[in-house]
Amino acid sequence: KLASREFHPQSSVVDVDGVKIGDGNIVIMAGPCAVESLDQLLEAAKIVKAGGAQFLRGGAYKPRTSPYSFQGLKGEGLKYLAEARNQTGLKVVTEVTAVEDVESISHYADMLQVGARNMQNFRLLKEVGQSKKPVLLKRGLAATLEEWLNAAEYIMKEGNNDVVLCERGIRTYETYTRNTLDMSAVAAVKHLSHLPIIVDPSHGTGKWRMVRPMAFAATAAGADGLMMEVHPDPSKALSDGQQSLTPENYMEVSDGVHKIAKFM
Ligand code: PEP
Ligand code: MN
Repeated sequence: KLASREFHPQSSVVDVDGVKIGDGNIVIMAGPCAVESLDQLLEAAKIVKAGGAQFLRGGAYKPRTSPYSFQGLKGEGLKYLAEARNQTGLKVVTEVTAVEDVESISHYADMLQVGARNMQNFRLLKEVGQSKKPVLLKRGLAATLEEWLNAAEYIMKEGNNDVVLCERGIRTYETYTRNTLDMSAVAAVKHLSHLPIIVDPSHGTGKWRMVRPMAFAATAAGADGLMMEVHPDPSKALSDGQQSLTPENYMEVSDGVHKIAKFM
């Protein structure tokens, strides 16, 4: 299989327009859950850049559990992301939820995110596999490692080898946390696959207080990067405020992550 370590013994490095993921450095993707306004996004972008992030994250098309929740700014949000990239030089990673949006999102984003809910949307996987953009593939809500790696296989089979995996927690019997962050997936994937893997402690726990310890653990476990939600004012966030870091928290987390990464 194309994603397997057996097929490709050497660890892959995914180059996203000059930012290398999987080369031994920790790559940080941070930003708000959703793009809410140009001001909110630019403020978040400046903060995450100051904390050493290479990528700005932010959803324009949001896959919300309830149809009554904020669904994202869609095309308008993509323009704001492009503006934030122009102003900061950060790379942009944003989610694509539908086959018909892949082309337009590719004009604005440096990396396409396939979210947990679409990990087994096979037509979407094929479509991003045919695009030229690197893909961030999140683990499904209840996906085994084998199912996740098979999802990567769908993308790579279409000719796109630039796939980065993202552990974001799985559904278990535990309800204290939003999901159960499967830290062991980092070590398991490193053994099974040559693809880079990052960890998202924000969706993985659903609680901002747990983001710092889990980000530290992921770094020590050998993750190639982190995805974290940061909002200029989490209490006013239109989505996922409870798991979003304030600018101050984010700086502190980022500082610790870089210290731990030095020993790796
Ligand atoms: C996100 O990163 O914005 C997101 C919706 O995450 P997930 O797909 O992991 O739930
Ligand atoms: Mn979110």
